[in-house]
Amino acid sequence: MIHLKELDYRTLADWLDKQGQPAFRQKQIYEWIYGKFATSYDEMKNLPKILREELSTEFLPFSLEVVSRQEDDDKTVKWLSQLRDGNTIETVLIRAPKRNTVCISTQVGCKVHCVFCATGKQGFKRNLTPAEIVDQVVLASKEIGELVTNVVVMGMGEPLHNFKNLVEALNQITSPDGLGLGARHVTISTSGIPKGIRLLADQGKPWNLAVSIHAANDELRAKIIPPPHRAKLDDIKEAINHYRERTGRMTTLEYVLVDNLNASNEHAQQLADLAHDCHAKVNLIPCNSDNPMFAPPPPDKCEKFLGSLEKRAVQATLRMRKGKGIQAACGQLKQQVAKKDE
Ligand code: SF4
Repeated sequence: MIHLKELDYRTLADWLDKQGQPAFRQKQIYEWIYGKFATSYDEMKNLPKILREELSTEFLPFSLEVVSRQEDDDKTVKWLSQLRDGNTIETVLIRAPKRNTVCISTQVGCKVHCVFCATGKQGFKRNLTPAEIVDQVVLASKEIGELVTNVVVMGMGEPLHNFKNLVEALNQITSPDGLGLGARHVTISTSGIPKGIRLLADQGKPWNLAVSIHAANDELRAKIIPPPHRAKLDDIKEAINHYRERTGRMTTLEYVLVDNLNASNEHAQQLADLAHDCHAKVNLIPCNSDNPMFAPPPPDKCEKFLGSLEKRAVQATLRMRKGKGIQAACGQLKQQVAKKDE
């Protein structure tokens, strides 16, 4: 069945006309799905019952069925949602005063296989459709009763491996005819796919780019991201510079800190050089893997690493670990539910 959010304007207008419905019904439908985050036709009370019935036989209003919802003490919410083919994906809402950020998935599984990532271990199943991506933003917005303030594409999957659907979804999320979120409030996080970064730059949108770099030399990076989806740092650097030139946006280098792997003073120096080379800022994330081999450094070591970057004039932050109690990192909720079902 076709998803309502994947119908172009003209097709829905023609369909409504064929049903003998006035043109203003289209506006009402869009108000429900984008303005009021409706997930069922039953909610669309100002549409005639007969029209709701006809719509329900032709078009899907929402593509996700929530299988589980977990809320942490800091009000971080994590959902596991089932898609129509039975696959499941994760979405996380991170709440802060004046800021509600939803972290969305773009694939079922992932081909990249970063060593400390639970999603990578699950293998790749399929790309999400544009509606399945947009509906995660709808799900989180419905939870808080208003549009989220930020979208980060940092959940399951490598977004640039699902380029076409990602761009279509982001256009719907940021269009005034869609959800209407400001483009500058969207961040796309990639493991570093130079071709995809260039293509994204060429969309000419002021979306923010974050690159999960995790190591600032190719040898160490090879221990974290296996071939064939690991690009050379020089190529990533060039792509980041192209992105800045085309969009005017400063890229963030995401760096997961793992004790005894990438957290020494020498590593900090290499990262500072890389950040300067591509005019990027750095976001440090103490590792939150379920694998004890990838433990985070103790807090004082993380602070020291941050200090080393700052001493070298790099704009850097150490990320607060929101959602720690429910393990808000790629793939982990899905693993927990799968274990329960076994
Ligand atoms: S961290 Fe991201 S890119 Fe790497 S395996 Fe996990 S989902 Fe894929």
